Amino acid sequence: MLQTKKCLNCGEALTGRSDKRFCGDQCRATHNNRNKAPHEQRMQEINAQLRRNRTILKSLCPIGKATVRKEVLDEMGFDFGYYTSFFGKPGKLYFFCYDYGYMPLVERSLNEQRPVRKVMIIQKQTFTDRADPWLL
Ligand SMILES: [Zn+2]
Repeated sequence: MLQTKKCLNCGEALTGRSDKRFCGDQCRATHNNRNKAPHEQRMQEINAQLRRNRTILKSLCPIGKATVRKEVLDEMGFDFGYYTSFFGKPGKLYFFCYDYGYMPLVERSLNEQRPVRKVMIIQKQTFTDRADPWLL
């Protein structure tokens, strides 16, 4: 009797080429994701967060420069722990997610009970002025 091969992901009987392992692209992707090494999964999550960060900065900074409260970015899912580069000097550091970056600001005003955390967002075209970690 002919042995029917089954999809490695869903168990569906496979038809067609004898070297087929999955019934379709969806099952191949699901199976491969499930079997990815933990560090690869983590890197993929970090890369996704970096892209999300850039998308958020871009959406809040349509004309090259903008000042926005930190909570706005928090609510949109921004993660301040991830950036691709930085430049400036202590007290005036810009943190970049690809071509969009922000500088943390703290504003103290008489109307507010507590200091207000904000960021100044900028867009940058060139990356020649990256910070040297040993010169900070
Ligand atoms: Zn399948």
